[in-house]
Amino acid sequence: MTKPAYKRVLLKLSGEALMGDDQFGINRATIDRMVADVAEVAELGVELAVVIGGGNIFRGVAPGAQGMDRATADYMGMLATVMNALALADAMRHVGITARVMSAIGIDQVVEPYVRPKALQYLEEGKVVVFAAGTGNPFFTTDTAAALRGAEVGAQIVLKATKVDGVYTADPQKDPNATRYESISFDEAISKQLQVMDATAFALCRDQKLPIKVFSIVKPGALKRVIMGEDEGTLVHV
Ligand code: UDP
Repeated sequence: MTKPAYKRVLLKLSGEALMGDDQFGINRATIDRMVADVAEVAELGVELAVVIGGGNIFRGVAPGAQGMDRATADYMGMLATVMNALALADAMRHVGITARVMSAIGIDQVVEPYVRPKALQYLEEGKVVVFAAGTGNPFFTTDTAAALRGAEVGAQIVLKATKVDGVYTADPQKDPNATRYESISFDEAISKQLQVMDATAFALCRDQKLPIKVFSIVKPGALKRVIMGEDEGTLVHV
């Protein structure tokens, strides 16, 4: 049997990926399907760290947050990621995956705090680590948390799960001639002004020479194909 292409990866799941076709919140069937994909790669012995977003919940409260100062709204966003992380870890438990949630902001009665050596230990033990509360700082995103935690735990790659199966020459929903890049360098992505991750996350990955793979989380089996190093999504490399 061919071996996985990676030993340790950082998977970034956006909160919106948990919504399925709903307007906000967590769609049970969607989270279960995602967790089944994760289980498939965990069974291969790949060490998985996950950063989860919060857009699905925060979007639901956003109208009420209008006019709020940015930092307060961002803390609400970070708390939303904690809810998603708990849901994700619980769904993992249902399929026999041992997951640990670690939060970047102190919320000790709910989840344990992020402590790097502990996270590394969990990964070595084969547990899935779900990083909640982003970087713990307002004015950042969970994409940046993915780059940061990916670098911290020594992940070989950041896997950015999206609704689109990679980076395209143009918006595939608007331009029928748009084609997918199989791979592209960081520099080329900048010069072509392609949006891969937000600027802070992108710069961090580039500086740390941490490749990014953009792939579709809605495409069945895509995560496994990415892990096996097959032509799936777009690889952003140094
Ligand atoms: N957030 C933050 N700092 C972080 C990560 C997230 O302040 O380090 C807040 C920010 O308000 C963001 C929200 O949490 O809008 C949810 O995260 P994000 O938008 O990255 O989630 P996604 O779009 O991936 O669901």
